[in-house]
Amino acid sequence: MTVVLNTPKDFKVWRWGKHGSIGFVPTMGALHEGHAALLKQAYEDNDFVVLSIFVNPTQFNDPNDLEKYPKTWEADLALAKANGVDAVFFPKYFDMYPDNYRFKVSENSFSNVLDGAHRPGHFDGVLSVVMKLFNIVSPTRAYFGEKDYQQLTLIKDMAESFFMNLEVIPVPTVRESDGLAMSSRNQRLTAEQRALAPAIYKAITQAKSAEEAAAQLTAQGFKVDYVTDMGNRRFVAAKIGEVRLIDNVEI
Ligand code: AMP
Repeated sequence: MTVVLNTPKDFKVWRWGKHGSIGFVPTMGALHEGHAALLKQAYEDNDFVVLSIFVNPTQFNDPNDLEKYPKTWEADLALAKANGVDAVFFPKYFDMYPDNYRFKVSENSFSNVLDGAHRPGHFDGVLSVVMKLFNIVSPTRAYFGEKDYQQLTLIKDMAESFFMNLEVIPVPTVRESDGLAMSSRNQRLTAEQRALAPAIYKAITQAKSAEEAAAQLTAQGFKVDYVTDMGNRRFVAAKIGEVRLIDNVEI
């Protein structure tokens, strides 16, 4: 059975009745096979699976992106049920921010590059909401996708830095058959834009350098925020029309 809980207080009552390990998958909803992969891993590793759905306003630097973020509650709940989720945490803004974002978690290094350089305040919002969610859910393990590799790294490092009693588990990126990384934002693409979108994965896997990949994408009509090689990965963020997509691969 899948229960839906809307407030931190109600969630904690459910949580403290559970003995055994808890696998936690935080999301912003509009669920797809990428989210399902995280839920499947959580189901395999733990006694209970918790899914959260919260479109977190503090991590959106662009109000238009927040407003247009897809919402598919009925389908999300069906996907949760099909994947053996025990509890869905589905709060509203003031449930999560009773003091209206008075306190935040900031990072001073890796959050300033790549997406952080292009989305002011984004990672403060991400880290703050994830810290709140971890404190509400008290998971044994929390699952994050490599699709958002910078986010995954920052959350892993935050958990370590604050001596949090949980394990952050990475899950490989799930792709469409044409290579496009699955993303809730893909729903916003027109048919024409959707046909163009796999060029992102193609460029970062096939170009000899980051510069070459950026040039290829620009030539095809993308507005490229960055293509950057860092460590053993190549990161990209590019816009098609109004929709901003990100991806990364090991190199
Ligand atoms: P979101 O709902 O987009 O905030 O994503 C929630 C979680 O699902 C994050 O940990 C993402 O990295 C992960 N995720 C999103 N898309 C994918 C994907 N295509 N493959 C693997 N994980 C994903």
